[in-house]
Amino acid sequence: MKLMQLISKGCAHLIPNSCLLCGIEKNQLICSECHSQFFEAASVRCEFCAIPVGPVDARCGQCLAQRPAYDSTTVACDYMAPLDQLVLSLKFGQRLPVAAALANLLAASVKKTVPPPEIPDLFIPVPLSRERLAERGFNQALEIARPLAKALNRPISPNLLHRVRHTTAQSLLHPDQRHENIMHAFSPNRRYKDKIVGQHIGVVDDVMTTGATLHEIAACLKRHGAGRVSNFVFARTPPH
Ligand SMILES: [Zn+2]
Ligand SMILES: [Zn+2]
Repeated sequence: MKLMQLISKGCAHLIPNSCLLCGIEKNQLICSECHSQFFEAASVRCEFCAIPVGPVDARCGQCLAQRPAYDSTTVACDYMAPLDQLVLSLKFGQRLPVAAALANLLAASVKKTVPPPEIPDLFIPVPLSRERLAERGFNQALEIARPLAKALNRPISPNLLHRVRHTTAQSLLHPDQRHENIMHAFSPNRRYKDKIVGQHIGVVDDVMTTGATLHEIAACLKRHGAGRVSNFVFARTPPH
């Protein structure tokens, strides 16, 4: 039984015993069959934004035309069915075990594709505004960032940046409006400003769609002296 069916039947408590992708009960959050089907095939991705590209391209057309403020992006998978269910289950299912499973999948992808010297000095989650945090009760990005930083043996600084203003949810806007919506939405926390200068900072999120939010965060970190900014995102929305 699929995850959303389980939830709609009010059986969300059953989830930890069955695979989040195929629903078969195996006492694994993601069974080994689904793991090899969805996470072991390596795809060639743009080195900046992780959009799938052709086998000889290092960068996608958009990043070639305009280089984003971040320096690289590592993802575990594309955001499409049935993998989108994993992200949805963070919201509706057993939050902590699911976040840990997503972080482990992302950590495995990092270990496979990122050389150790290119692992950031510290990790931060994409911050939520106070209003959205109150509404949702937790920050999905932080839930993934914590076990990811632990798996990669790096510190995490959850309050390094904060949202200086509440913005319309990016998902409600047309891609063209997203950059303007998020502009200057972030600012470093005064207490942590020293932690930014010269550092390689890893920014963690659950899903990357246009990349406008991550671009704005990287631009903010670099304005305040970050040496390098890399994104670590569970799932990348493929181009339509
Ligand atoms: Zn499965
Ligand atoms: Zn790109």
